[in-house]
Amino acid sequence: MKEYKRHDYREIELYKDVPEEDWNNWKWQLRNVVKDIDTLKKIMPIDESMEQDLEKCLEKFTMAITPYYASIMEKDYPRGVVRLQAVPTINELHVAADDQDDPLHEDVDSPVPGLTHRYPDRVLLLVTHICSMNCRHCTRRRMVGDHDTHLTRESIDKCIDYIREHKEIRDVLLSGGDPFTLTDDALEYVISKVREIDHVEIIRIGSRTPVVMPQRITDDLCNMLKKYHPIYVNTHFNHPDEITADSKEACERLANAGIQMGNQTVLLRDVNDCPNIMKKLMHELLRIRVKPYYIYQCDLSVGISHFRTSITKGMEIIENLRGHTTGMAVPTFVVDAPGGGGKIPVMPNYLLSQSDRRFALRNYEGVITTYTQPEEVFSNCGRCNICKESDKQYKPLDGVAKLLSGEKLYLEPANLKRRKRD
Ligand SMILES: *Cc1c(COP(=O)(O)O)cnc(C)c1O
Ligand code: SF4
Repeated sequence: MKEYKRHDYREIELYKDVPEEDWNNWKWQLRNVVKDIDTLKKIMPIDESMEQDLEKCLEKFTMAITPYYASIMEKDYPRGVVRLQAVPTINELHVAADDQDDPLHEDVDSPVPGLTHRYPDRVLLLVTHICSMNCRHCTRRRMVGDHDTHLTRESIDKCIDYIREHKEIRDVLLSGGDPFTLTDDALEYVISKVREIDHVEIIRIGSRTPVVMPQRITDDLCNMLKKYHPIYVNTHFNHPDEITADSKEACERLANAGIQMGNQTVLLRDVNDCPNIMKKLMHELLRIRVKPYYIYQCDLSVGISHFRTSITKGMEIIENLRGHTTGMAVPTFVVDAPGGGGKIPVMPNYLLSQSDRRFALRNYEGVITTYTQPEEVFSNCGRCNICKESDKQYKPLDGVAKLLSGEKLYLEPANLKRRKRD
């Protein structure tokens, strides 16, 4: 099988004398994160106009590039797909009409600082504001890079208390920032506390570290994590060029610790807004044992409008994946709804028409086919113990599922004008 490239960091003047031992040490990587223009100049050519642009950007947004990510960046190609994710451009200063500080209402839906409880059975726990790298397309740029802190022990304990008191929470998602910027001990504190809670079934970690600082994925970290299974890690590759021998090894170490790896890609203009690039990315991810999970429509955070594409581009990408390649390579394309509506899947239409008995469906080749429904369509379900003990089960709140079950016959907005008329 094809080998992945190992970039030689010594080709960069600034790093040519760095001993391998330091380079492969994540603490060295963190200490040497590139934050200023002078250092960046030692990594890649920067002309005067670019320097002026950078200066203006850095007044408003922070820059942080790990030496490792700098080593895989295209040095003399400003439109490079890796570089675009790391080096600020003047476009960031453009505020588009619909830009918002907190488009996903993660702060609004937060019962305790650090925790977002949006969906019934799962919570997002933002354990830190720190990332080793500041991605230029970051959704959480209002927090990341702004005030560089981990959540305090006290805040974490309050979040844990909340999870303990809410028995409906069966899935805790650690995110940030990047949880892997915490030390093993600090991370273990959070994970072990969450694991002690009886009703928490799974723990998930969202981290871009395997992509931007693979050195962090040490055997010690993996050995710690595997004590608390079931643990899932979702990482964040956006382009096949980010998959290197180093990032592959990082994912492999996690997978070898029994951790299921998933990937969440952001659809980014000029980086991966192409069905062919995306197909290649999905294939390469499976080769490094990472299962594509989501493709996100780029959201409405301030200063990233130049990365946004049309939603139809995402649908086109799914059209080019589904059926054309293994279903394992097909993630769900979602729009994270502004205002806290959560992730909404969008996909091409496969259902062409329907009658009482038949469905007309089309496949990826354009073949139109039918499915004839059984004459007796009513389900006999509802007899087993899961339903009989359903008072103990999670029941949908006012969702469409409740309409389908017949518990409600309609949903309407809270302040419907018609209801207020006498
Ligand atoms: C994305 C997200 C989750 C997890 O969603 P899944 O679809 O279960 O992966 C949970 N809480 C919040 C606030 C989220 O944004
Ligand atoms: S790793 Fe994630 S949270 Fe951190 S800067 Fe990148 S996109 Fe933002």
